[in-house]
Amino acid sequence: MNTATECLLRMVEEHHDLEDYQGGVPRWCTGCGDNAILTSVQRLCRDEGLRPEKTVFVSGIGCSSRLPHYMKTYGFHGIHGRALPLATGLKVARPELTVICTGGDGDGFSIGGNHFLHACRRNVDITYIVMDNQVYGMTKGQASPTTEPNWDSVLTPGGTGIRPFQPLVIALASGANFVARAFAGDPEGTTQIIIAGIKHPGFSFIQVLSPCVTFRPEQREWRNQVRPAPVPTTADPSIAAKRIMTDDGFNLGILYQGDRPAYKSGLTASSMQADELSQEFLV
Ligand code: SF4
Ligand code: MG
Repeated sequence: MNTATECLLRMVEEHHDLEDYQGGVPRWCTGCGDNAILTSVQRLCRDEGLRPEKTVFVSGIGCSSRLPHYMKTYGFHGIHGRALPLATGLKVARPELTVICTGGDGDGFSIGGNHFLHACRRNVDITYIVMDNQVYGMTKGQASPTTEPNWDSVLTPGGTGIRPFQPLVIALASGANFVARAFAGDPEGTTQIIIAGIKHPGFSFIQVLSPCVTFRPEQREWRNQVRPAPVPTTADPSIAAKRIMTDDGFNLGILYQGDRPAYKSGLTASSMQADELSQEFLV
């Protein structure tokens, strides 16, 4: 086989269509923002030429955590709140993979809250997409960590009265080097932000506002409230913190991007023999 033929074969092999990433019919409610985010993710995989066999989606539990089922890449649907440690271990052991973690606000900021802090701090090169709808959708509409205190519902009459978790500023304070906000109803913007997050070396945190049309139908109004952030991305964490703490939660874009080096481990799965590894766990 001559070099030109080899080159052509490689190009054919590396070209992927959208169908190469589509793994079944999503079971989300019609109009749920997660549907749009899935489409954005599948398109960016194709447009960026991410190889399905080198790409892994890892999730926890909840409506949005079903995303890996709908991708024809590798995937791991883990347990509640534990997506980040799974993704971290995978990326450290297999640094050649593109590892993308997905989930919701309940999974990521409540039971997974501690892992969130430490993923920001460790700065392993994974991308974390949180589809935030300020409610537990899968378990039928309980208030989540990001729910506003006066959200009146059957389960919390009059609201919880509890101050919401502020994921972006907490990410920043914990050492995250890439902090962004997108909106499911803006697929092009969401796609571009996730691409930037994947390309950013180190941990990238992207909150995607994703309306839950079933339990929070009023979130359909978000499309009239979001706007591109009126200021450019900053690399100064104090400026970013002030902006994020004083915005109303609807400014979209990459709100902070620093240059702290990503975590690198000398240890890989192939560098350690199985019997050596088993010795590590002997009690
Ligand atoms: Fe989406 Fe809400 Fe339906 Fe879950 S319950 S699929 S979050 S609209
Ligand atoms: Mg949620």
